Amino acid sequence: MKIAIAGSGALGSGFGFQMKKNGYEVTLLDYWDEHIAAVNKNGLTVTVNHQTERVNIPMMKPSEATDQFDLVFVFTKAMGLKQMLEDIGHTLSEDTIVVCLLNGLGHENTIEKYVPRENIIMGTTVWTASLNGPGQTTLYGDGPVEIQNIAPESKDKAEKVVAILNESHLNGHYSKDVQFTTWRKACVNGTMNALCALMDANINEIFSTSTHQSLLKGIVSEFAALAKVKGIHFDLEETLEYIYNVSRKLGSHYPSMHQDLSNKRPTEIDFLNGLVAEESRKVGLKAPYCQQITDLIHAKEDLLGVAR
Ligand code: NAD
Repeated sequence: MKIAIAGSGALGSGFGFQMKKNGYEVTLLDYWDEHIAAVNKNGLTVTVNHQTERVNIPMMKPSEATDQFDLVFVFTKAMGLKQMLEDIGHTLSEDTIVVCLLNGLGHENTIEKYVPRENIIMGTTVWTASLNGPGQTTLYGDGPVEIQNIAPESKDKAEKVVAILNESHLNGHYSKDVQFTTWRKACVNGTMNALCALMDANINEIFSTSTHQSLLKGIVSEFAALAKVKGIHFDLEETLEYIYNVSRKLGSHYPSMHQDLSNKRPTEIDFLNGLVAEESRKVGLKAPYCQQITDLIHAKEDLLGVAR
């Protein structure tokens, strides 16, 4: 079984490491020259829950891959997904299974342009990862990874991926409703993640403000209204409760959009609040919270000189 990680930043390197360590043939694909050079020279060093190990693992640019892969995990940032799919086209056969665990909404529509529906597996994960520098990653938590086939007839393919995740100690689960989990996770990112980035605050600080409840309810209500039109199962109260639970666990953490802006990198806002604002407009709904949050994040990117 030849596995590729298409986008081997923090989470991609971490997942690639776990699968390689547990006996799979894994190739890392990425664009970052220093990262590729470091992994090829010294191996990939990964700290998983405070235990550091190194593995030798081939890493190259997508255009340099010559194998056809049986299984590909895409792990770009949301805005890099389309380009990556273009660049790995020659490595995909008609049987290649593609798994997407990116944050954000609507990625299946992008992947469908390159991969048959019956080979697409969508999911979410609450593993967290960060890059410490070229060739060095930290992976923490214990998952889970929840995945589901988007074509009804492909359950066996998703179950096969669950087995690989479990053999690699990545805590895979078959989800009966991955859309629900994906939208709920998008709400976490569309609220606490976006607000921390805008306010330059950590999660505890955001949840100590007098206005956080109305902000959260306003944003999540817009996700809920759009989900209803799209026929996606969504529970407003459960989602708010879920966000509060996550906030209690991660309190002093600065989420990814805050980190992106601190590193002058673009955020994934267009695939979260931005997508909700745009899709809502198309179906005649109003989403003023999501639109303004998207505009403000983009304004902040502009002020920081972030290239988009
Ligand atoms: P990442 O930023 O670590 O990597 C994404 C891409 O950016 C990779 O190609 C990487 O090589 C490149 N990159 C990173 N730092 C760079 C630098 N300094 N110079 C040049 N290139 C650089 O992204 P990630 O955190 O692995 O996230 C991938 C996807 O998974 C996203 O959709 C994210 O929202 C989602 N996700 C991440 C986490 C997490 O904890 N990291 C958790 C759940 C979901």
